[in-house]
Amino acid sequence: MRLYNTLSRRIEELPEPPGPIRMYFCGPTVYQRAHIGNARPFALGMWLRAWLRHRGYEATLVHNITDINDKIYDAAPGASAELAERATQWYLEDTRDLGLGMPDALPKATDAVPAIVAFIEKLVDAGHAYEAGGDVYFGVATDPGYGRLSRQKVEHMEPEEASALKRAPQDFALWKATKPGEDTSWDSPWGHGRPGWHIECSVMAEEAFGPVFEIHGGGLDLVFPHHENELAQSLALGHDFARIWMHNGLLMRGGEKMSKSLGNDMTIRGVVDGWGREVALMLLLSGQWRKPLDFNEDTLVQARERVDGFRNVFHAPSEPVGEWAAFEVALDEDFNTPGALAVMHGWRDHELLRRAFALFGLESLAEVEQAPAELVELAERRRDARVAHDFGEADRLRDELAAAGWEVRDVAEEPGFRLVRRP
Ligand SMILES: [Zn+2]
Repeated sequence: MRLYNTLSRRIEELPEPPGPIRMYFCGPTVYQRAHIGNARPFALGMWLRAWLRHRGYEATLVHNITDINDKIYDAAPGASAELAERATQWYLEDTRDLGLGMPDALPKATDAVPAIVAFIEKLVDAGHAYEAGGDVYFGVATDPGYGRLSRQKVEHMEPEEASALKRAPQDFALWKATKPGEDTSWDSPWGHGRPGWHIECSVMAEEAFGPVFEIHGGGLDLVFPHHENELAQSLALGHDFARIWMHNGLLMRGGEKMSKSLGNDMTIRGVVDGWGREVALMLLLSGQWRKPLDFNEDTLVQARERVDGFRNVFHAPSEPVGEWAAFEVALDEDFNTPGALAVMHGWRDHELLRRAFALFGLESLAEVEQAPAELVELAERRRDARVAHDFGEADRLRDELAAAGWEVRDVAEEPGFRLVRRP
């Protein structure tokens, strides 16, 4: 099994099974209903875990919840903790409804504050961090390799935020003193405050796995500064931290990155309710995980056609056409899900398809749901109306079936139509 590593810019071999393969994938900052872009790293982590386990690995996935962050304070002045709690529940509901199961652990930053404070104290003691006005900053000048992940020179880096307290503009906050309007805070050796975003993930990952683990994942927009800084913090304490860094390509809409700030967002909830979870998953599977993926009405329609194509196979008798090996080859080489889908499209063997669907949370595509008798009768009347060239009546009956949630399709075989459940 091979995977692309952002750190080395190469496709690398994983250790032999059983591993272990310990994976930490950055989760959402919880202050609103999560947008569909958040579903990509979630689904990638869950699918990869399923595939690794299938290949005999002991695979574990930890996916954190960032519930201390500036965005949360900004979104709910005076009530940030309540918003974070509510948005955490939304995220858990929405991702659960993708039907992929859940990660092995979903740690929250608010539960990790004592461990974060202890980690920062070690960085201060080691001379990598300094206190200034109740804040604590990581001094990037103490890390000669800083920029190793994003491959930037320090002098070319965009400072995250300006502060007169910093020794160098690229230094980043590990601890931030409480500011007016912030309604949550924790005690620390440097006074009341709260952790910075990057240290939260270094600590949550190491709390779960210890100082070294196999894979760290997240969206491509997290390479810098978030992951660059996580890596710097952990290396500064002599920890190896993650060996392979996986960065998924971003979801695009009309060529632009999809995000709340651009106002072109689609939520996980909206897509799952509007299109069905199978269509959402099919669209995510259809893109190579490292590449950007266009997520819009057109590509959703294409994904629905692929879903229908797979469902149709189960309306015909199973034929032993296809072999499992080609599917394994695709996924073993940098987890090429579009390649795996292409192999599956050639299959007419129900058992093979069921095995593959189970890995992707798509078992439901193999279930042929029978329409209730009264709807079958409507479809029979529609068929007879078409035979009698009464197309007005046929269309009316088709609409009546659609309103009941069923699509009628004309087929050559008896009884001349097929009823397919619409999400
Ligand atoms: Zn993170």
